[in-house]
Amino acid sequence: MSATAASGRNPFDLGGLTAIVTGANTGLGQAIAVALAEAGSAVAGIARSSLDETAALVERTGSPFLAIQADLSTIEPVERIVEAAQAWRGSVDVLVNNAGIIRRADSLDYTEADWDAVMDVNLKSAFFLAQAAARRFVASGRGGKIINIASMLSFQGGIRVPAYTASKSGIAGITRLLACEWAQKGINVNAIAPGYFATNNTEALRDDPKRSAEILGRIPAGRWGQPSDLGGAAVFLASAASDYVHGVVLPVDGGWLAR
Ligand code: NAD
Repeated sequence: MSATAASGRNPFDLGGLTAIVTGANTGLGQAIAVALAEAGSAVAGIARSSLDETAALVERTGSPFLAIQADLSTIEPVERIVEAAQAWRGSVDVLVNNAGIIRRADSLDYTEADWDAVMDVNLKSAFFLAQAAARRFVASGRGGKIINIASMLSFQGGIRVPAYTASKSGIAGITRLLACEWAQKGINVNAIAPGYFATNNTEALRDDPKRSAEILGRIPAGRWGQPSDLGGAAVFLASAASDYVHGVVLPVDGGWLAR
């Protein structure tokens, strides 16, 4: 019997934990922040712009919220983010690497500037935030949970998004690598691979009638994902229920990959 089962505690209960969620002002990051808060976690939300909307949604759940403004296009704010969250609640237990950007252009025309911008936010900052959080998890002796936001393009090629595909394939790779290095330190590193969700990230696809119909026609669930569809997977991977889950890239995709 597991420790949580023996204690009678709901293994999905996040009460007493503190989670950092990057890109929490909108879209999937906002929904993940709310889901973790509903399960009892305090949430430190990271974004370049105002987090007021997310603060109101989280506080409505009864869980505390801290807004941290930071631009993750460089790794300059990484230490500050983890320090601020640690100082706020006395510990950090969960990191959700969600902030991400996408730049679309034919690969024949793709620029170095677009390549670097996407890789810096989606892969480099995610790795160094994971490193900064993991150092705290090791120092505290309590371990922790790292959840990276991957993509269908962690598994597939896509078109016209070479840096995005490289970054999300890289996220799947470092999820597995970090899981291998840190599992014995009590740190679970996993990823969620969202399918096609209705957010800013997919606005250009949804505005293109041909691409939009092609995508929708392939989703067995018959609809685009709503940000709240990710909440359960995020709570699971943040909770004691996933203590023996390491290095998975969990699709939440309406069945897209099963097709
Ligand atoms: P979104 O554009 O609404 O959100 C992106 C988030 O990243 C925003 O909160 C933004 O503030 C943050 N961000 C971007 N650049 C940043 C920077 N330099 N510094 C700090 N924060 C920054 O899109 P979304 O769909 O909610 O995307 C969230 C994550 O989910 C991304 O990693 C994206 O690649 C991934 N994803 C989305 C989909 C989808 O269908 N929407 C599918 C697969 C993966």
